[in-house]
Amino acid sequence: MDVRNCPRCGNIFLFHGFRLCESCRGIEDKEYEIVKAFLQANPGTTVEIVADKTGVSRQQILYFIRSGRLSEEIKYFSELPLYCERCEKPITQGKLCKECQNELTQSFLKTQAKLREDRKQEEKIDRKGARVHFLDKSRDVDKK
Ligand SMILES: [Zn+2]
Ligand SMILES: [Zn+2]
Repeated sequence: MDVRNCPRCGNIFLFHGFRLCESCRGIEDKEYEIVKAFLQANPGTTVEIVADKTGVSRQQILYFIRSGRLSEEIKYFSELPLYCERCEKPITQGKLCKECQNELTQSFLKTQAKLREDRKQEEKIDRKGARVHFLDKSRDVDKK
């Protein structure tokens, strides 16, 4: 049983492949309709204006954009509504601002280094056991 916290209301729900709990999914669908209708009626707007006028949170609107649900309506925005997924700073392309990208790269490299260390440790243990035999055998093959 996969139980998760709904990222929207914080309630615990049974995960069925949907991001949100059932009641939030209903609300989200309604908000999507509201945002869509507002955009069609008010071309040349921005995420801030839509959030302000519809009462739908900026995060929610950005989520609709990122998940591709507003791919038809995205043309109604006067500016490209892109924000860094990590710090919400406006960006011009991609998903992350430069700062967050750098930070993530750094932490990724650290994780990689850590993994390599762990692997080395494991190999050391292996060499004492089964791996020795394997290596010896392959050396025998080379000699032939
Ligand atoms: Zn919920
Ligand atoms: Zn950022």
